[in-house]
Amino acid sequence: MTQTPTRADFDRYMVPNYAPQQAIPVRGEGSRLWDQAGREYIDFAGGIAVNGLGHCHPVLVKALTEQAGKLWHVSNVYTNEPALKLARSLVERTFADKVFLCSSGAEANEAALKLARRWAHDHFGEHKNRIVSFTQSFHGRTFFTVSVGGQPKYAQGFGPVPGGIVHGEYNNLDSVRDLIDDDTCAVMVEPMQGEGGVLPGDPEFLAGLRALCDAHDALLIFDEVQTGVGRSGTLYAYQQLGVTPDILTSAKSLGGGFPVGAMLASDRVASAFAFGTHGSTYGGNPLASAVALAAVEFIDTPEVLEGVKRRHALFREHLEAINDRHGVFGEIRGMGLLIGAVMSADYEGRAAEILPLAVEEGLMALVAGPNVLRMAPSLVIPEADIAEGMARLERAIARLVAGQ
Ligand SMILES: *Cc1c(COP(=O)(O)O)cnc(C)c1O
Repeated sequence: MTQTPTRADFDRYMVPNYAPQQAIPVRGEGSRLWDQAGREYIDFAGGIAVNGLGHCHPVLVKALTEQAGKLWHVSNVYTNEPALKLARSLVERTFADKVFLCSSGAEANEAALKLARRWAHDHFGEHKNRIVSFTQSFHGRTFFTVSVGGQPKYAQGFGPVPGGIVHGEYNNLDSVRDLIDDDTCAVMVEPMQGEGGVLPGDPEFLAGLRALCDAHDALLIFDEVQTGVGRSGTLYAYQQLGVTPDILTSAKSLGGGFPVGAMLASDRVASAFAFGTHGSTYGGNPLASAVALAAVEFIDTPEVLEGVKRRHALFREHLEAINDRHGVFGEIRGMGLLIGAVMSADYEGRAAEILPLAVEEGLMALVAGPNVLRMAPSLVIPEADIAEGMARLERAIARLVAGQ
């Protein structure tokens, strides 16, 4: 019989790039998780905005297990029914005409950036290769995506960075006017910065980016890896912002916990990915596609999306009530069920101290940078779980305030 693994095995056997919590979750149902010791947690973290339907949602379990008995993988030498259905569903629900399927957010962004460069190369020539992105942005951990991302710590120490990338200031259109020119092939932006602090983009800023891109024949890429698939209260955030990108990337909630990513593009742009220009062994994998199709079809309904807006209001009410009593937050912000509570001046930079206290009280939450407590729960989290999770959060915050 094999021994039950422990947290010590992480340090012994795994590369030290993560520092996971001591508790090891072994089972999940809806918005509740249980660890090896049988302790129960309410999940406001959602696997970092991935478990859009909580844990083991019956609709996703059904899609996965039915496909598991049929066909797992065929490579892109063949196509397959789940991938075709998923691509069609995404096209019918969005601005996009074409879809590239892959397995993660970074991979979707890598595809988007390569597509933009290739499109500009083919239509205008080699010189049109500049990419504008933003400080504090996050686009994934491949070397191209950390270089485009606006947090230098993620690219430092990995050797020469790819050239042609410049960073403006988020929500500051003038900073982009100074950087963009006819050699720019793309502007990559999150409609709301996730990792950078749950910071919503001003609609005028995003509309201004669209206009600048049009003026310079550059492509507008929306990274909706974190905001996508219902999290913002619409299927994709762009649909409520009145700004349509040329390329959009999706992952995280797309598979509800099964690894999958997608890059969506208009026909005008997608044709630059001609036969042989790009690929991925797992892209369009039947298991991943079957689960993602079920997730998209379940989430893109008025019931679920209205429910996200209702729950957003509930989260806000609870957090404001907690703040009335403890004064730890300066601002509550976000869209849908991606919510940030910014620490007040007295607690500046101390968001991460809440997490271990919350775990002790039976609540999983997140941070986004040193100053923002982040919540990205299931889009269908029961209201009773919100209330109970908030009671646990308040106990954790009371202990922070008491200096325990
Ligand atoms: C998480 C995230 C990514 C990276 O996704 P991975 O699946 O970890 O590669 C990219 N962009 C944004 C906005 C994200 O939140």
